[in-house]
Amino acid sequence: MNDNKNLKGSCACGKVEYTITDNPLFTQACHCKNCKKSTGSSFVIHTMIFEDDLVVNGEVSSTELPTGSGRGYRAFFCVGCGVYLYCKYKVAQGRIAVRSATLDKPLSPQAHIYVKDKDPWIEIQNQAICFNTMYDREKLWPKESLKRLNQK
Ligand SMILES: [Zn+2]
Ligand SMILES: [Zn+2]
Repeated sequence: MNDNKNLKGSCACGKVEYTITDNPLFTQACHCKNCKKSTGSSFVIHTMIFEDDLVVNGEVSSTELPTGSGRGYRAFFCVGCGVYLYCKYKVAQGRIAVRSATLDKPLSPQAHIYVKDKDPWIEIQNQAICFNTMYDREKLWPKESLKRLNQK
């Protein structure tokens, strides 16, 4: 199956490095307006992992930011270069969303969400994984990931 244990990533200046010690749960691209602002680009790619599986070396700072749901999240940055590496959503206790593009080896999105806000010049080949807003996790996440989620 997918064996992505011990994936490594870092910020732009290299002062912060991290390792994801177990397989990620799911990787998705979000095209919403908040994600455009926070990346300064057309979409973010988030890899969902368990908080216990993230080992960070180096100094990070964090700040609270709003979400569409109003419950907010905490974003973590390298203190040296300011690159946004990962975040914790209030609604997803015990889990972390890592910014996949900071990984040394990229992971392909298994879903695209908020495609209604997608930039018009982006064409996604696999329409089956595109969702106007959000998807139903029970239907889309791999069985193995759902099982691990329920065991936590
Ligand atoms: Zn840095
Ligand atoms: Zn978003």
